[in-house]
Amino acid sequence: MRNTEVNAEHLKFMNMAVKCSSDNLKTNLGGPFGAIIVKNGKVIACEGNTVTSSNDPTAHAEVNAIRAACQALKSPDLEGCIMYTSCEPCPMCTSAIYWAQINVVYYGNTKTDAEWAGFSDTFITEELAKPLTGRKVQFKRIGASDAIRVFEQWMQKTDDEKDATKKGTL
Ligand SMILES: [Zn+2]
Repeated sequence: MRNTEVNAEHLKFMNMAVKCSSDNLKTNLGGPFGAIIVKNGKVIACEGNTVTSSNDPTAHAEVNAIRAACQALKSPDLEGCIMYTSCEPCPMCTSAIYWAQINVVYYGNTKTDAEWAGFSDTFITEELAKPLTGRKVQFKRIGASDAIRVFEQWMQKTDDEKDATKKGTL
């Protein structure tokens, strides 16, 4: 009985994410994708894809939802939050989910469904599996001796200073 109730709640939130993607189809703000973030049974973010309307290639529904949820909670840490997204997240959004420390992700469409609809991210997954020297985008290391000095200065901070910086309370 309890499992059914839990599943019903997850489905309710998934329906909201799908509604978000469907709304995007009508407004043409971006691709047909939607994501919501829930904390303690309460929706704290509900966003669609706005890549084309905001001229922002990173404005996928999941990233937009993470940004909105973090603003709502005034924290970069979304631990304890659940994401519901209309489609299995791409590599960029998956990374953002990890950085935000979201615990669980429910998704509707699969990557294969997205590919069928003309939204493939397989090329990125394939690229990430290659060494830096074998990728289409060239990654070239320069200025390392200057760059490392900033890390050296960071390492001289006290643990309290580092914690405060990471938590944004400095
Ligand atoms: Zn994405």
